[in-house]
Amino acid sequence: MTERQELLDATDETIEDAVRFADPMILRGLLYQLTGDASVAATEVQGRVLGLAEAMVLANASDADVLQSKAAEFLKSYRDSGADEIPVGPVDRLPTSLSLACGEEIPAADLEMWLEQLAVDPWARGLVWRDEPQPNRLQEFSVVVIGAGGGGLGAAVYLERAGVPYVVIEKNAGVGGTWFENRYPGARVDTPSRAYTHTFGAGFEYPNPFCAQSENEKYFNWIADEFGVRGNIEFETEVKSVIWDENAKVWEITAVGPDGPRSWRANAVISGVGFLARPNLPNIEGLAEFDGPVFHTARWPSDLDLTGKRVAVIGSGCTSYQMIPELAKMAGHTYLLQRTPNWCFDVPGYRTPYPPQVNWLDRNLPYFRNFARFRTCWLTGPEKLGAAFTADPAFKDTHARSAMNKRARDARIEFMQRKFADHPELLEKMLPVAPPFSSRPVLVDSDYSVYDALLRDDCTLITDGIRRIKENGIELEGGDECPVDVIVLATGFKANDFLWPMEVRGRDGQLIEQLWEKDGARAYLGTMLPGFPNLFMIYGPNTNATGGLGTFDFEEMVIRFALECIEHLIIEGKQTVDVTADAYWHYNDELDRHEALKIYTDPRANNYYKNEHGRSSANSPFDIRQMWAWLRRPEDHDGVGADRPISGDAAVRPHFGEDLVVS
Ligand code: NAP
Repeated sequence: MTERQELLDATDETIEDAVRFADPMILRGLLYQLTGDASVAATEVQGRVLGLAEAMVLANASDADVLQSKAAEFLKSYRDSGADEIPVGPVDRLPTSLSLACGEEIPAADLEMWLEQLAVDPWARGLVWRDEPQPNRLQEFSVVVIGAGGGGLGAAVYLERAGVPYVVIEKNAGVGGTWFENRYPGARVDTPSRAYTHTFGAGFEYPNPFCAQSENEKYFNWIADEFGVRGNIEFETEVKSVIWDENAKVWEITAVGPDGPRSWRANAVISGVGFLARPNLPNIEGLAEFDGPVFHTARWPSDLDLTGKRVAVIGSGCTSYQMIPELAKMAGHTYLLQRTPNWCFDVPGYRTPYPPQVNWLDRNLPYFRNFARFRTCWLTGPEKLGAAFTADPAFKDTHARSAMNKRARDARIEFMQRKFADHPELLEKMLPVAPPFSSRPVLVDSDYSVYDALLRDDCTLITDGIRRIKENGIELEGGDECPVDVIVLATGFKANDFLWPMEVRGRDGQLIEQLWEKDGARAYLGTMLPGFPNLFMIYGPNTNATGGLGTFDFEEMVIRFALECIEHLIIEGKQTVDVTADAYWHYNDELDRHEALKIYTDPRANNYYKNEHGRSSANSPFDIRQMWAWLRRPEDHDGVGADRPISGDAAVRPHFGEDLVVS
């Protein structure tokens, strides 16, 4: 029985029409993989700047026609032969096929990571038990996962598949974390949706290249149901404390749920709490006296009607800029109160859904979505988008930190000049001082952005500081008053307060705040803390990827690492795995060395990456390939990644008996 009835019913015209919407580079890799056709491999490529980084594209336009015709022929013959599921083709052909899809040679040491990104094996990042676990040991082990956002749900699915007992504790009434909470008008992801899934979730059909909040929330609900983890989630239950019991070698977790206090004891805790989860509420004089609605963007009132209202938005980060054009359409007048402008990166069609033909190909051309995912990931990889965050010390320019950075800055200014051709005063106020990539780039639609909104008569930019808030408006430093009916706090999140406001105590009653008192939150590999055995953070300190790939990838690597540690405890009959304090500091010394080269440390930068000690607890400065190698097979001292040189002189050895102590 085929699942591709839609293809069986398709006419030749439908097929020929659909393939014209396929990126020929995707077809180049995919067709070669499926057919081994040497003429596909012989098509030539050349470099072209796509967005920020140079990427390889077809050198001859006529080859696009050839590849699309070949794809149509393949689909017709596949349809005519019954359209049953087909295998992906020879495994030993995959390296060449991937190289054809990205147009570049993939080094052998990186191949396994890229094959995981391809997600032909949806469980490529799952736990593969080394030995059969003893059923009683397995059933006696328990894990508490905190949070049912992308990280926590991912952990739940992998634990479920591994057969390890677990419960997920979620403070909200639904899954999705950030995407459950952030419902402000215009909320949309700024990572390509093709790459914004778990490996096992790559089959989800996203209708947009960059999906809106509702689609992202739908994805998380699909995950919870499709992979059977919803029944293990305790909703509306907020964890209050996580305390290590050294005698029993278990964590004691207390929470408050709909029926009052609850507690669990677990061998391991996996925290899936996000670092952009707790609203940062500004301390502005008079805020409490304001007469109208005032709320943070992550607490958008569902019944709010802004028609005819005068709305002030305080803050000018991604959230604010994304929201302003929507508010300008709804409100009577919109005021953007801005301290620091941010760089906007225009993406043509950022808000436009895929043409239906693309989703048709997702459903009907075998492995199209895998190769599309791979190419998208490649373009966000360490040598592409990932390189945009790194400064070149030899590059001398007043405003930019590398040739790539200058190219980005020039293009941004050109975009602004186009938008503000008749408004030099706006251009001046919207021009950031710090270089691009020193704070989170704001993705906008080329034809619909905060810049367009500011050109409206009913939308005003205010750069004068806020003196105080009064009952019916905002008084500015310069003495002007701005009468408003609604105040929206787009003031970001407590990005540096990891695990806050939970009380987390490890061995000897030590609080995490004590471990972090020197210069803020840190972790070993972004996940472990010395003295806090069997505790793993998924989106822990310094895991926000600036070294290529995205949040889901980093999170899955961490989850696999946590599961491999748990596997070891279960199989070996051990109780704890901990990281040594030395290893924690070695790793962090190495991290600091890498961070020094990152553009987000630019002294002009003003961003939520920087904590009160002047360093970033948020970002990972490491190349994702390095992280992938470190977060792999802790039992295997000479295994995967051993051939990838460890950077610097710090010996990061994430193995049992080395940096990791098992007892
Ligand atoms: P944010 O980037 O931290 O921006 C907070 C804004 O509030 C800044 O402009 C800040 O000004 C201002 N602010 C803070 N305290 C203030 C005060 N007391 N008075 C006046 N202004 C104040 O927060 P965000 O915009 O919510 O974005 C956070 C992150 O969420 C993003 O970087 C991104 O990672 C994620 N996000 C993603 C998307 C997307 O996927 N498209 C959308 C939204 C958010 P200063 O800069 O002057 O301090």
